Amino acid sequence: MRPEVERALHTIPIGASSPLRACRNVDTEPLVVAEAHGQYLQDVDGTRYIDFMYGFGPLILGHAPQAVSSAIARQAADGTLFGTYCPQEVELAERIAATADHLEQMRFVCSGTEAVMSTLRLARAYTGRTGVLRFNGGYHGHFDLVQNKDEARMRDAGLDPAAMQSNVYAEYNDTASVERAFAEHSGEIAAVVVEPIACNMSLVLPEDGFLADLRRICDREGAVLIFDEVITGFRLTYGPASNLLGVAPDLTTFGKIIGGGTPVGAFGGRRDIMRLLDEERVLQGGTLAGNPLTMAAGLATLDVLAGAGFYEELERKGALLEAAVERHRAEKGLDFHFVRTGSIFAFIFVPRSTPILRKADVAAQPHAPYTTLYAGFRKAGYHLAPDIEEPMYISAATPDETLEDFAARAVELLATDPN
Ligand code: PLP
Repeated sequence: MRPEVERALHTIPIGASSPLRACRNVDTEPLVVAEAHGQYLQDVDGTRYIDFMYGFGPLILGHAPQAVSSAIARQAADGTLFGTYCPQEVELAERIAATADHLEQMRFVCSGTEAVMSTLRLARAYTGRTGVLRFNGGYHGHFDLVQNKDEARMRDAGLDPAAMQSNVYAEYNDTASVERAFAEHSGEIAAVVVEPIACNMSLVLPEDGFLADLRRICDREGAVLIFDEVITGFRLTYGPASNLLGVAPDLTTFGKIIGGGTPVGAFGGRRDIMRLLDEERVLQGGTLAGNPLTMAAGLATLDVLAGAGFYEELERKGALLEAAVERHRAEKGLDFHFVRTGSIFAFIFVPRSTPILRKADVAAQPHAPYTTLYAGFRKAGYHLAPDIEEPMYISAATPDETLEDFAARAVELLATDPN
């Protein structure tokens, strides 16, 4: 064991402040990183690794992009926390709100978890109900109300049983399961919370009509529809992915990208729901929420994302990677899913004749191929997702050669996998 890891374990449970970083699900020791630039992470020994995780999604521009680092440095020199109104906060809220008609008002928090918590609280206050319908395999943070059930990996000791009882579960891409849940909990469900593109059970795309069905059912039942866009917000287009998917939720959560790699979350939506904050009927606050440092990093990031052709270029890179993986896969006669949307992608080791629609389809895959892939890439100087069900990311700093090399290596490793 590396001495740094041993030292970390002494004072920090699992050695890190978030569980997947420990790399236990890929049977490896974590990287101990000293600095990161562009597409590279550099460990404390000076070894460089090409990154495909980018901090679990926020770093769409790559590591330490000049524009964002300079904005952070400038703001740090002028103060990191005012504890009062600041123009940067208003500017970022306005810019995010301007990306979709349904984002009438916004508020900032410090994490995606807090953003989801706040929307659920609002939905319950707005409807006078307590139930929350969520989808097996979705992830919305680590607080009681949105914990997964029946998943050994989602450690469940210490959860408040009363809060857990408010959770109602349905299957992603399965409208009938949503209808059943509403029938069984008639008049009890305050909100349906969903990742419009599921990014926490590997990568599962919504089937045509599924999100529109959720919209229709929520309207009929008087429930609040919440799109959790902590990963997808500003990842696939300049704004929420709902702009691409053609369904408008009532409330939306953001995180990750909008903070330019600093701690952030945000939520927003219909004025008549957000008004509960104005009327001070719902308490939501945070010492560090909307702090100028995060706002400056977010604004600098959005400046770049708003540039002409930014998302088209990311899509080109994503398509290049997908085409290269498919070409090598076909040449070797291998059978697995390579799922991609824009700059998010994942391998799912299930035969292509089986469609991937929900958690059970993803959970059915063997783990050995990914363990092989992870270990092979680590040796070759790549940093991949430390869990088979985490998707990976391309950034603006990922060059075409990396994508070509990655595709060839991935298929070669899988083709020679003794498992
Ligand atoms: N919602 C989704 C869809 C997420 O992927 C995550 C984290 O990955 C969260 C919420 C929680 O965000 P955070 O880790 O910033 O609390």
